[in-house]
Amino acid sequence: MALPRVVAVTPGSPADRAGVLPGDEIVALDGQLPRDIIEYQLWADQESLGLEVNRAGLELSLQVDREGGEPLGLEVDAALFDQVRTCDNHCEFCFIHQLPKGLRKTLYVRDDDYRLSFLYGNFTTLTRFTEADLERVVTEGLSPLFVSVHATDPDVRARMLRNRRGATSLRWLRALLDAGIEVHGQVVVCPGLNDGEVLEGTLAGVLEEYAELASLACVPLGVSRYNKEGHMRPHAPGEATAVVDLVEEWQGIYLSCLGRRLAYASDEYYLLARRPFPALEDYGAVAQHDNGVGMARAFEAAFAGRDLGEEQGERGPSGFFRSLEAAPAIGYRAPRAPATVTLVPRKRAGTTVLTGEYGARVLSPLITPLPADIDVVAVRNEFFGGNIAVAGLLTGGDLSRVLADLPSGRRYLVPDSCLSGGRFLDGMSLADLPRAVEVVPADGASLRRALAPAAEPALAR
Ligand code: SF4
Repeated sequence: MALPRVVAVTPGSPADRAGVLPGDEIVALDGQLPRDIIEYQLWADQESLGLEVNRAGLELSLQVDREGGEPLGLEVDAALFDQVRTCDNHCEFCFIHQLPKGLRKTLYVRDDDYRLSFLYGNFTTLTRFTEADLERVVTEGLSPLFVSVHATDPDVRARMLRNRRGATSLRWLRALLDAGIEVHGQVVVCPGLNDGEVLEGTLAGVLEEYAELASLACVPLGVSRYNKEGHMRPHAPGEATAVVDLVEEWQGIYLSCLGRRLAYASDEYYLLARRPFPALEDYGAVAQHDNGVGMARAFEAAFAGRDLGEEQGERGPSGFFRSLEAAPAIGYRAPRAPATVTLVPRKRAGTTVLTGEYGARVLSPLITPLPADIDVVAVRNEFFGGNIAVAGLLTGGDLSRVLADLPSGRRYLVPDSCLSGGRFLDGMSLADLPRAVEVVPADGASLRRALAPAAEPALAR
């Protein structure tokens, strides 16, 4: 068990007043070392607690006193203090198996840990879930969770996960739903494997067995040029259309049986099928934006200046855990990079928004009509190749290739979703790019704000 190390102390916080310093290793809270940030948060939620730390080999006992529920004021270097639970599946469609060699180590971690599902919205197959885990989830109210369904047919699911426990592990999904835990599901649809009749069976199986699921996202298989599984291939446009048709047909059935749509095809499917996205209202508060469900419509609405507020669901912890004072996501899920390189927007400078090929198809209709020198450049993902076209997987190398051919003297904007801790997936940093860029949060409101100086009065509030 690695001791959590303090990486930041908020000035004036209870931890600061108690004398905790960055670099201290937390040995115990009231005599015990929590297993993870969830336990830490629960245990630290008391007015007075004893904190034992290791400072350069010296064990110190500190007394922390909080007033009126103020946060402890510590940030530690990991969310899990024991080991991350890795998956025991060997899915043919696993994207981690399709990564090139030489990327940072954490990208190769195949986690299947319900705690990361709760903390960061990572999907778990539940093949390593246990009775003790269920008890903890229920006792500590770890909701919502995110579960990979893929297929409700036990044989198909076991085949897809290449794990015989895949045939039975959805019993935990049933148990979680019985216990009132909010669960969102996903189906990674692989052409020829779990589309067509199998997908129809899954949508029917969800209605029969797991109707309390909060949502079910159907997302297309991503295939990089490093894929070694011969029969894993991208969808043909007709196959994508068939998935959209099937999901929409089942939305009608769910609506009449359950009063809600429940299942959604991701935005990528609508782009592949060249069909308009459903109305924003059709998505409700589905917490599957990271799966690209309803993201385009939410982006459009926010770009148009609509305050989405509570309309759109968020993935990740809720309630007491919504604000985790000590849970950096590095290694588990990419945190959004701070906008470390920010140019002062010049009112009349031309602006170019660089994004992935899918993102460009969403942005172009919003930006092209603006009465200003603003354009959108689609950056082809040559690093991953295949059908990888989402902005979040853009690399520094691909951006450099495109930026090098673009003129100097313009503003260049890139989405923060392709950066983690200030680095692109290929390890490059913003400083390595041939042009200075501004990093903009990948949401419509932020892009609107970033473009407003150039596009007044069309975008200025
Ligand atoms: S469960 Fe996830 S991480 Fe594990 S092999 Fe399958 S796709 Fe990869």
